[in-house]
Amino acid sequence: KTIPIQLGDQSYLVNIGHHALEKLTSYLQSNPPSKLCIISDETVSSLHMDTLLKAIPDSIPRCQFITPNGEKAKSMDVYRDVLTYVIGERLDRSALFIAFGGGAVGDLTGFCAATYIRGVPFIQVPTTLLAHDSSVGGKTGINHPLGKNLIGAFHHPKAVFYHLPFLQTLPKREWRSGFAEIIKASLISKQPFFDELQRTVRDDYDINIENVVRPLVQGIETKKRIVEMDERERGLRAYLNFGHTLGHALENELGYGKITHGEAVLIGIVYALRLSQLFYNLAISEKQFKEWVERIGFDLTIIRKAAPVRLLNRMKNDKKTKMGKCNFVLLEKIGQPILKEIDDETILQTLATFISDIG
Ligand code: NAD
Ligand code: ZN
Repeated sequence: KTIPIQLGDQSYLVNIGHHALEKLTSYLQSNPPSKLCIISDETVSSLHMDTLLKAIPDSIPRCQFITPNGEKAKSMDVYRDVLTYVIGERLDRSALFIAFGGGAVGDLTGFCAATYIRGVPFIQVPTTLLAHDSSVGGKTGINHPLGKNLIGAFHHPKAVFYHLPFLQTLPKREWRSGFAEIIKASLISKQPFFDELQRTVRDDYDINIENVVRPLVQGIETKKRIVEMDERERGLRAYLNFGHTLGHALENELGYGKITHGEAVLIGIVYALRLSQLFYNLAISEKQFKEWVERIGFDLTIIRKAAPVRLLNRMKNDKKTKMGKCNFVLLEKIGQPILKEIDDETILQTLATFISDIG
């Protein structure tokens, strides 16, 4: 399956399938770079680098840089090391970066490509389920010690190659993390997408490639629609942050090793559903929703480790917060997101009951 992302002269194709690497080969044959630099993390490169290298035409010079796993790849130190490496490799403007890994490697590679000699092209070869979200949309970046994603740039890939067999080695927890973003996409997209998700994935065991391909495609299509309408996040694109206001706060509060991005976002979603019921009488059963995600294996009780006041302060320091006011994406209906400013008092109260109701 191929999904075009239409952004004028920045348009590109997202190729998804069991043989997406064949598309990569023909892409490189018709657009040969002067040299390519693969950036990948330790786990992904040890599992899958050989497969990727086989898909690259012999005639193309290549080099590779291996980062630490996961979020550690998005540090200022690793960023500097990558640049030092590619300067040494004499990469020029006709070179090509390949992001080979999950969202972390994708964000780092995209940012290196955006900033090295004022920009070189890059492509994404995502290896996690979550990367269906991060590989599309052109947001790239790294973390600052004071906060996640504080340094970044918009830089779209030239193409995305989602080779599904790579997902086979993904640990259960990472499947789940990616699935949370698919749940998010369904809730801001439309009721039938959400219904189908609940029908096909009923418990932990159901999260596998076969069941997830269709939702994955629907998730990318949701992101595509929103990004095409609002490339630079001036309005609509904020809807993609559904569940992320509290999610990010929780992720920062507990620390990256303790909770995955998706796990944090999922808890943020449950809270946003509660606020949506409160403000817009959203017709959804929180109880049923919680039972469903718990069957899939999400642990909601981890939020008990965080105090409401600390979460509130983190939300107020979020880069998306305007003048200290917290904005939440809520739902009037499934598929009808809306931005709502909520005062501190209400947040503290609802958070306290939310946390005590969990588990
Ligand atoms: P990740 O890149 O940290 O990968 C998670 C873990 O899975 C890592 O340890 C990695 O080594 C391992 N892994 C990756 N692929 C594997 C495979 N095929 N088999 C076995 N192990 C594998 O995490 P992620 O969840 O993909 O991405 C999270 C990051 O994405 C966060 O930094 C988040 O900020 C970012 N993100 C960016 C955007 C965006 O629009 N740019 C959107 C959402 C998330
Ligand atoms: Zn996210």
